[in-house]
Amino acid sequence: MKPLTCLRCDTEMNFLSEEYLQLGKTGWILGDLPNLIAGAMKVVIYICPSCKKLEFYAGENIATDDELPQKTCPRCGTVHDFDYPKCPNCKFCYE
Ligand SMILES: [Zn+2]
Ligand SMILES: [Zn+2]
Repeated sequence: MKPLTCLRCDTEMNFLSEEYLQLGKTGWILGDLPNLIAGAMKVVIYICPSCKKLEFYAGENIATDDELPQKTCPRCGTVHDFDYPKCPNCKFCYE
């Protein structure tokens, strides 16, 4: 990762820690169930040593569309997202 500079004072920011943010809220009807569905998000926290501003970045386990691993179908050669259980083109099943 390239060095980050503080948006406010242009000082190079220091890595502080990695945390897991719990997504969703614990409701009074369903209890912890929504939390289990929403899961946790990894965040990387940087701090500016000069003005103490904190910056949060999504960790690398949050895949965006271009970062999703790809898989090539052995039958038809179609490249598709890794998490498909079947080839979307020829329905080749990986199981
Ligand atoms: Zn700063
Ligand atoms: Zn295929």
